[in-house]
Amino acid sequence: MADVYFASVKTDASLLDKVSDLYARVGDGIFKRQETVALKLHFGELGNTAFIRPVFVRRIVSEVKRRGGRPFLTDTNTLYVGKRGDSVDHLNTAIANGFGYAAVEAPIIIADGIKGKNSIDVEIKGKHVKTARIGADIFYADSIVVISHVKGHMLAGFGGAIKNLGMGCASRAGKQQQHSSVKPEVNASKCLGCMRCADFCQVDAIKKEKGKAVIDKQACQGCGECTVSCPNGAIAIRWDSSSRDLQEKMADYALAVLKNKRERSCFFNFLVDITPDCDCFNRSDAPIVPNIGILASRDPVAIDQASLDLIKKQVGLANSALGKPLASGEDKFKALRGLDATIQIRAAEGLGLGSRKYKLVEI
Ligand code: SF4
Ligand code: SF4
Repeated sequence: MADVYFASVKTDASLLDKVSDLYARVGDGIFKRQETVALKLHFGELGNTAFIRPVFVRRIVSEVKRRGGRPFLTDTNTLYVGKRGDSVDHLNTAIANGFGYAAVEAPIIIADGIKGKNSIDVEIKGKHVKTARIGADIFYADSIVVISHVKGHMLAGFGGAIKNLGMGCASRAGKQQQHSSVKPEVNASKCLGCMRCADFCQVDAIKKEKGKAVIDKQACQGCGECTVSCPNGAIAIRWDSSSRDLQEKMADYALAVLKNKRERSCFFNFLVDITPDCDCFNRSDAPIVPNIGILASRDPVAIDQASLDLIKKQVGLANSALGKPLASGEDKFKALRGLDATIQIRAAEGLGLGSRKYKLVEI
């Protein structure tokens, strides 16, 4: 059974000091003096406001430095074009969102390089994946601190440590591999022909034919963004197989990222501003539950399971995408999109990445 440490937002102490306390519980011994430490986070798309505040990241940077490590902030480029699609845009976006050196005191290295091609093939025995394509500078880092903003996700149901590892550390080719079975379709009888969905598609895969939207399956990259764009609910994917495959592939990729770092990793999950969608969106919708706190663990499976359990325990907020109050005990992510977010956690446990059984230790 893994220990998961919990600092509640309901506190009379500084949450920054609690981050230091959490670090001391999980971060000691994952690197030696002078080694490089990748702080894997998501800088947020330009326009998004729910990503982790730089002030928390700065505190983790200072804890790593205090122990003699050489930290750098990192992420990989996105599959879609957006404002994080290559390293130049990605760095500009990270700095615009407050992650410049002056604020955070660590350099940023985009792990898969300027065009997303700086990738390493990692051989694994995953359920779906045998060769995973990982951002090279994450692979070559001596250790990793995975800092995840927990929130909903239109394809995976939920995003936490496993998603930050699996999807977040993959190069563009790796992301493509994980999305390969996600193919949305337009229900023509519901389509109004407004083409709002086409504005969301970064690869121009949606065209108008005979007054209705049609998706070009060759051009579609399976990012899933159009599925939340339609005001009439006309675009859907086959949730049963698509989400299951994607989540299981994410777990396979998490296995690949930790292949050379299992004892050299620790995890922070921030359960604040828990929005219905991921930070890849250029906006942030209202949180679906009240702020909860910050978790830390050496086990990526346990920390994600604990995150889901704590969110389930909260009351769902009516003034959110949920649309109505949800009682404590109801699965908020399932209520949003009907997706079972535990698939990724069970898959990761099955691969030996950790345990769904945990002990919650409040600090
Ligand atoms: S947003 Fe929906 S209704 Fe509008 S064109 Fe796209 S699928 Fe049709
Ligand atoms: S999933 Fe939708 S938005 Fe994404 S590439 Fe395919 S058609 Fe475009």
